[in-house]
Amino acid sequence: MSKNIIVAGLGHGGIAVAAILSKNGYNVTVYEKNSEGTLGYDWTDMFDPKALEFAEIPMPPADKFKYKENMTFCGPCSKKVLTQYIPKHKTEIIMERKEIYNHFIDNAVKCGVNIVYDCEVLGPVLIGDRVVGIKTSKGEFLGDLVIDSCGMNSPVRRNLPKQFGIQREIKKEQKISIYRAFYNKCSDDAIDGKFKIILYACGKPGVSWVASHDDYTDVLIGRFEEFGMDEVERATDFLRRTNSRLGTEKIRGGQFVDIPVRHTLSVMVANGYAAIGDSAFMTVPLIGSGIANALRASRILADTIIADKSEFYSAETLWRYQVEYYYRIGSGLSPLECVKSALLKLRTQDVDYCFESEIITQDDMTIASNFTNIKDLFEIRKMDIIQKIKGIKNNKRLVIVAFGAVAKMSKVLVVSAQIPKKWDKTKVLKWAKQYDKMFE
Ligand SMILES: Cc1cc2nc3c(=O)[nH]c(=O)nc-3n(C[C@H](O)[C@H](O)[C@H](O)COP(=O)(O)OP(=O)(O)OC[C@H]3O[C@@H](n4cnc5c(N)ncnc54)[C@H](O)[C@@H]3O)c2cc1C
Repeated sequence: MSKNIIVAGLGHGGIAVAAILSKNGYNVTVYEKNSEGTLGYDWTDMFDPKALEFAEIPMPPADKFKYKENMTFCGPCSKKVLTQYIPKHKTEIIMERKEIYNHFIDNAVKCGVNIVYDCEVLGPVLIGDRVVGIKTSKGEFLGDLVIDSCGMNSPVRRNLPKQFGIQREIKKEQKISIYRAFYNKCSDDAIDGKFKIILYACGKPGVSWVASHDDYTDVLIGRFEEFGMDEVERATDFLRRTNSRLGTEKIRGGQFVDIPVRHTLSVMVANGYAAIGDSAFMTVPLIGSGIANALRASRILADTIIADKSEFYSAETLWRYQVEYYYRIGSGLSPLECVKSALLKLRTQDVDYCFESEIITQDDMTIASNFTNIKDLFEIRKMDIIQKIKGIKNNKRLVIVAFGAVAKMSKVLVVSAQIPKKWDKTKVLKWAKQYDKMFE
């Protein structure tokens, strides 16, 4: 008899794994709180299309996406900018979020996935130490496995028993608050750098961008603290000083959303339970992109489920998913949380100094765009990075922060590599505690 798989929340990884499992004969139902046709934000997103192939999702039609172009990085006040040259057609695609959802949902429905809309998931249903279903606004649903794809604040993960060892809450400093909106174009002035990323704009720790398009300007303000519309006004005025095309009329978006910017959940499976996407904090810790990682995880999770011939989906068999994800992706991303923490220790003048003193060059930015895994980049360029830090001895504070970050990154890489290869609850929880402690 085919097994019943519950996917809680229509997240990107959840809908992708649902499609693969359904194609392989599983009975899969996704429960989503929003109504049909209303999913996604009113803006565009970037992701690596190679992840689609990994998740067995076809490439979207050519008229639905564009390729990412060169990006220009700027400091808070420094006049010096660094351009990241993107090889044509080799990196990320830009697509409307609603179209991304439509594409993934069409694929899943064609594969036989059932989707129940307008159904809010309230928490897990447990028997002993096993998740056996979900509580929802439409009643309880039981299944052989619950895949948690409800995002960062998943009510399933947050209501798991403490003894599962799964972190239930995300700390304040582990998320970035984002405001994003498209504004009218108010002039035809020529623009230097169509897509500008500004570190510490307005002197506040965070990342902002201004992307000038033919008929609108896309603005994102990201801060490591909560902020409101007063701050948005101040920040957009600041951005207007160097982007004369940025108008004052908001034409799309205009929402505040939080994104996790931390290491992947140190334990993301339990008996009858596996977390994916933002529920497991799979975003890139520095920038918050999570679509491609959720897609890659979907394939690893589907392979693990299909390989479980006992069809019991215990923590022991699902652990393979976590180990594989960490090996391929997670362990390569977690050092970026150290970079984020280091950035938060800097003052605006330190950030400007990095641009002025050429610690980071255009070549570095361009090379970085070709790596999806910081582990590889760090291992190949470690000596180069140390040389660069030595070269900035004029700024002692920066040297201390930078050496601290490099030492921490090395340690994080060592501990991630020590992840227990086989499930042994005591060993796993001990490792998870040690791993999480490094980011405190
Ligand atoms: C402003 C912004 C810009 C971003 N830009 C990019 C980008 O350019 N590229 C990129 O790769 N990533 C980007 N991200 C991150 C990306 O959105 C996520 O990492 C990615 O979507 C994976 O998250 P998810 O699908 O698992 O979770 P989510 O996107 O949070 O989806 C969770 C789903 O579960 C549903 N849900 C939640 N709670 C319940 C409940 N209680 N009951 C039922 N359903 C529920 C939600 O409605 C939603 O459909 C951005 C995020 C934000 C906020």
